[in-house]
Amino acid sequence: MQKTIALFQEIVTLLEADDKKRPVAPFIPSEALHTTLDLTLKDQGMVDEDFLVSLKELILSTPKTATHAFFNQLFGGRNEKAVLGDLLAVILNNSMYTYKAAGVQIGVEKVVLEKCIDLLGWDHHAGGTIASGGSMTNFMALLMARDSKDNEIRHQGVQKRMAIYTSVESHYSVPKNASFAGIGSDNVRFIPVDKYGRMSPEALSSAVKKDIENGFNPTLVNATAGTTVLGAFDYIPSLSKICKEHNIWLHVDGAYCGSVLFSNKYKHLIEGIEAVDSFSFNAHKMIGTPLTCSLLLVKNKSYLYHSFANEADYLYQTDEDDFNPGKTSLQCGRRNDALKFWTLWKSVGTLGLERIVNKQFELADVARDYIQNNPDYILYSYENSISVCFNYQGISARDLCTQLYEKSQLLVGYGNFDGHEFVRLVTINAQNEKEDIVRFFKVLEHFVAEYSSSFQISAKTM
Ligand SMILES: *Cc1c(COP(=O)(O)O)cnc(C)c1O
Repeated sequence: MQKTIALFQEIVTLLEADDKKRPVAPFIPSEALHTTLDLTLKDQGMVDEDFLVSLKELILSTPKTATHAFFNQLFGGRNEKAVLGDLLAVILNNSMYTYKAAGVQIGVEKVVLEKCIDLLGWDHHAGGTIASGGSMTNFMALLMARDSKDNEIRHQGVQKRMAIYTSVESHYSVPKNASFAGIGSDNVRFIPVDKYGRMSPEALSSAVKKDIENGFNPTLVNATAGTTVLGAFDYIPSLSKICKEHNIWLHVDGAYCGSVLFSNKYKHLIEGIEAVDSFSFNAHKMIGTPLTCSLLLVKNKSYLYHSFANEADYLYQTDEDDFNPGKTSLQCGRRNDALKFWTLWKSVGTLGLERIVNKQFELADVARDYIQNNPDYILYSYENSISVCFNYQGISARDLCTQLYEKSQLLVGYGNFDGHEFVRLVTINAQNEKEDIVRFFKVLEHFVAEYSSSFQISAKTM
């Protein structure tokens, strides 16, 4: 291993230097991928030296997500303490189904989950698990909601028509999961939102009533804490009331911004969270661990066992269920995603996690201030969101984002809301500073000045 670790260090050193020199990797059009790099696999292996050359080339050609020029998705940065935990998890290579196979690492996962449960204000009846992403934790919540309606569904399949509710601004995993769960994506009701992007409780209430009249069984309300485009927070107390009234499972998809749980300043955005049935969040988004680290927390853990426990003599041979989390997980073999969160949390403390979360809102404030103080920009998003949506000089957002990418300037995406298309700047990398946000705008402005003639000006965005 020592030789491999030395090699690893050599490559990472090269990458870090390259990140500083070129914060955006060279643009390789997908059509030119195979003519630019030799990715082929051959019958004969390579000699070590050639292998290293080819590996370095591959690494330096890969899109960079840890630099101050990456704002494209809902993650970014390279948190050292979390990276260390994840590298160690790879070296240890445990599988998180049994205490026998993962030992003390089961304790690591339990501590992380239990500490989150405390922060939610739940008691010892609560439980949780870690799955391979926010889509999967949403799926697990849907399965528990489905099974909670009828004990026999696990064995007989869905017999009665079910309906689930989510806002038009929610994540696409909701209809996808409805099809996986045998509920059917046609039975997802997309509830309209207010001007801030929050699900309308009135519209939810009438959709539920209509379904009951038509013989559907309302099964799940999927609320969102941080919608994918605007970063809006559905107002949980109003949705909770409707769910209680009709006995509907309430899940909060906090994949993007559920980590406000760690911030005394911003946890009011998930007010009412103590009353929901399940809650998920991605530590690989706001907390900044490497992908993936997605936690699902359930107020009553018996639902986790009800939906996910299966007997398997060849696997469960020692210890009680509480130490064999394979009984509450979607997968069988499962990588140790808890360790990276634990190493980070252990080293910076809960207050350190709070600083990480608060920093992102501060950076979003910097971006909104910049936009509002500059008449060339139009702002489309609101306070308390780390998605800062804007247009510049009436230039098509789609066109601008694509050209910034193709000319290796910045990685940033665009989105739509309420008939407008705009650039979506996500200030999720807490390693950025105020200057990095200002630099983003300066790079964009210089780029537009240089290439001004090549942009489409769309009247619609003005
Ligand atoms: C990112 C996101 C998801 C999906 O999470 P993955 O880990 O990418 O599967 C789900 N919901 C919301 C609101 C998200 O932002």
